Order: sequence, then structure tokens, then C-alpha cells
Amino acid sequence: MSPQPKPAADWAARAALVKPTILNMIDGRASPPRGDATVSKCAPRDGSAFYSFASGHPDDVDAAVASARRSFVARRWSGATPAARRAVMLRFAALVDAHAEDLALLECLDVGKPIGEALIGDLPVTAAILRYNAEACDKLPAMVHAASGSHLSWQMQRPIGVVGAITGWNFPLALAAGKIGPALAAGNSLVLKPSELTSAATRRLAELALEAGVPEGVFNVIHGDGAVGDALARHMDVDLLTFTGSSATGKKLLVAAGQSNMKRLVLECGGKAPNIVFADAPDLAEVAAAVVTRAFWNQGQVCTASSRLLVEASIKDALLDHIVRRLDRLRPGDPLNPDTTYGALVSQGHLDKVRCYLDAGRAEGARTIGADMGAPPVPGGYYMAPMLLDDVERQHRVAREEIFGPILAVLSFQDEAQAIRTANDSIYGLSAIVWTRDIGRALRMAERLDVGWTVINATGAPSGGPSPGAVDKGGHKQSGIGTEGGLDGLRQYLASTSVQVFA
Ligand code: NAD
Repeated sequence: MSPQPKPAADWAARAALVKPTILNMIDGRASPPRGDATVSKCAPRDGSAFYSFASGHPDDVDAAVASARRSFVARRWSGATPAARRAVMLRFAALVDAHAEDLALLECLDVGKPIGEALIGDLPVTAAILRYNAEACDKLPAMVHAASGSHLSWQMQRPIGVVGAITGWNFPLALAAGKIGPALAAGNSLVLKPSELTSAATRRLAELALEAGVPEGVFNVIHGDGAVGDALARHMDVDLLTFTGSSATGKKLLVAAGQSNMKRLVLECGGKAPNIVFADAPDLAEVAAAVVTRAFWNQGQVCTASSRLLVEASIKDALLDHIVRRLDRLRPGDPLNPDTTYGALVSQGHLDKVRCYLDAGRAEGARTIGADMGAPPVPGGYYMAPMLLDDVERQHRVAREEIFGPILAVLSFQDEAQAIRTANDSIYGLSAIVWTRDIGRALRMAERLDVGWTVINATGAPSGGPSPGAVDKGGHKQSGIGTEGGLDGLRQYLASTSVQVFA
């Protein structure tokens, strides 16, 4: 059950007491990161100093990988039966639920996202991903090949070994759960490095895992910047590297894996999702509501954010009218206020980058729709109003590059063929949305859009549908390699060996 929202003053009072100390968790023990440089983090809500820590060191990576390897070789977790792993992971998920308020507060302060969203979105999704993988770990049938009576051949599946995991900042705990869940369910040991922009909450997950019964050394956390990620990616004793972040970093990881031990890779990278609205779309008011939610959720900082609106020319003006009215229903404000639905961007640097795209769009001839927010809801915070850029052309930067912020590029099309060409004209292939009442067209679009995840008539909430963690969502093209979620996602964390027996 979702916790009851508390009044804003409660959250502000609780927030005033939060002073995160960023510590690694290696072999079940907390220790400060090493390193000569300092990572300084400001709270997006008001720009105040939030925490700082040494930027990490390859020695931290060595220690964490050695801890993971020791626990794996000792079979502390890999030797446990799937049923035993399932029971511990379900306890872990229950502890996440029990600590949801404290964890949500850390997410709110670290990312700048509304507290209500962290409470009803991020935390339940984090627990659900752990639970899905816990439940799945004893339900992975292996292939047995037909053979004569004196010959048996089957495919044995076992944990792959030491998993290195590197995550981004937009949903720190849910992204972490997307790695921890399948890594633990498959019986691996793991070293997780969260983004240096959001380092506040992840160690708590490792502590809760220990409390639930995950043995020491099985789940390690190291903090640090990209150099620490690089050392993990190049480590000769990491068997699988699983990553969520930008395509640019994903490409570096391909090189790092190739230059080290050819470790297996799962890459979940960027996107530029089209939201395609045909003139026969069900109800334009409903479409507009979903366009706003899916483009500006988490202030547009979502890999699957529908950042390109492709609309059939005949209904463009009508749809834009609805969208502009719907924008007024967003409630920008202090992320600590439970009524806020639209908070701050993660950092000053990211805010500056996103604003540059507005200038780029205008310079290329796009028309801005949306108003400046005026004074920030909390002085000093990293706020930006949601904006539409109309009359965008396929070749414009704002139509091609991932902005990862609250800017929606509007393009129009004349027919289905042009919609498909425009939608697929991207280096990314993560996800897409299609609005139509024509079931034949819906099926054609699902087949022809080159993406890993298509939603037809997206009337449900972004995290609606099957249980979080249940649907496999691997990106096509430069959106990634491999897949995350579902049984296919879990199988990425297993090594298979074909076994033949002759009697
Ligand atoms: P990023 O690539 O800058 O950083 C991600 C992580 O990689 C961080 O932990 C960072 O420290 C680390 N890193 C940076 N340089 C590295 C290097 N050379 N070697 C190893 N690690 C390195 O991405 P970000 O800005 O944190 O996240 C935003 C991006 O993540 C967007 O592109 C977004 O689309 C993507 N994303 C994708 C998904 C998905 O499921 N496909 C989900 C969320 C976010």
C-alpha cells in the first residue's frame, strides 16, 4: 500500500535533518571512497551544498571486485538454492517498502523530483523490480534436447560470476534495482557504481540487502565519477558489465570491454522517443494529457520520454491547443511539497545544457510555446518551465539529439509512410507511442517502428501495465545492447553450458 502523503512542512523538517555521508560498501563494511579530487553535490531544490566525497580510486574498484569474487567462489550466494535466494530477495523488497519514506526523501533531495512522485513511483517500482526477479529466479526452465535412450543433452544455466553495474541519475534506486534484481536472482555477486550526481541513497540499499540476509561481499557499492566507472569496465575480473546511461558512455564501455577481458555487456542507453498521433486518435484531450505526462514526467529526464511529437498535419493545431491547456495542470513547485508534480532539474550544469537546446531550436527556426517560469519555486534551485518547440524539421538538432529535459519538439506528417520515416530517422531506437483507432495501422506501426518498446494508445500511467520489471525493454540501434527486464533480461545474467551424457 502506498504511504500517505505528509504535509509539506513535515517533509521540509525531515529534509533539514538529512546530511548524507557517502560511503562505499565493500565486504559488508562501510568505508569512505579514496581519491584526490572531490565530487561536490548541490541539492537541485535550492542549490545548497548537499554532500561531497572523494571522487573514487581504482583501488576501491579492486577491493570491491575482490570482495565480490571471494563471495562468489565461496558460494555464499551462488551456492544457495533458488528458493533460498527468492526468500531473501523478497525480504529485501519488503525492507525497501518499509523504508520507502526515508529513501524517497533522499531521491527527492538528490534528483530534484517531487516527493509524491518518489513515493508513489520510484520506491514501489524499486521494490517491485526486486520482487519480480525474486519470484522469477526459480522459474527458468532449461532446454533439454531430444536424444536416443542412452544419450542425454541439456543446457545448464549458472550464474555468470562477478557483475559490474554502472547507473545514471534520473531514477537512482529503480535503475539500481534493474541491475541488482537480476544479478542476485541469478546467483551472481555484484559491484554497483551509482552516478556521482546521485550518490545519496544507494548504500542504504546495500545495507537493507545485508539485513535481509544477502551475505557479505555479494552486493558491493562503490562511489565515484566516470574514471571509477572506467576502472570497473576495464577490470579483468568482472565477467559482465551492465550499464544504464548515455549512448556516448555506452560506446566507451564497448571499447573498455574489448581492451580488457572481453566481458559481456548489457547497455541501456539514450532515446529520442516519437509520440505519433494520427488524425483518427481516440480523444484529443486524453492524448494531450498523455503527451504532457510522457514528455514532462521527471522534468523530461526520462530515457523513454516522448520528446518528439509527430502529429498528422490536419489535427496539429487542435492538438496543440489541448496540450497548452493541459500544461496548466502541471503543478511546478518545491519538490518537498506533496502537491508538486513538476520539480527541478538535477544540476546547474544539466539545466544550462537543456536551456542551450531552446536557443538552438529557435536559431533553426522553431517557434517556442510555453512560458518562462518566473521566479524559481525555491530560490537558488534548478528549475525550468516545460516548453514546446513547434515547426521543427527532421534535420534540426532538437529533433535529432537527446535533450533529456523538458523540451518537446513538434513535427508534422501527412501520411503513415511519412510518420514511419520520420520516427525511424534517429540514431536511437528505445521506445515509441502510437495513437490510432485503426487496429491494422497499430499493428503495422508496431512492426515497422525500429524500437524496443511500443505503446499503442498510451492512456495508462508510464509505470502502468504489467508489474515493473516484467517487460523486456532492450533498445535498438544506439539505444543499447541486450535487454533489461523480464525473463530475457534475467537470462543475460546467466552463463549457459551445454552438457552431453552418454550412458
Ligand atoms: P552518463 O553516461 O553520463 O553516466 C552514466 C554513468 O556512467 C554514471 O555512473 C557515470 O559516472 C558513468 N560514466 C561516465 N563516464 C564513464 C566512463 N568513461 N566509463 C565508465 N563509466 C562512466 O549518463 P547520465 O547523464 O548519468 O544519464 C542520462 C542518460 O542515461 C541518458 O542518455 C538516458 O537516456 C540514459 N538512460 C537510459 C535508460 C534506459 O533504460 N535505456 C534509463 C535511464 C537513463
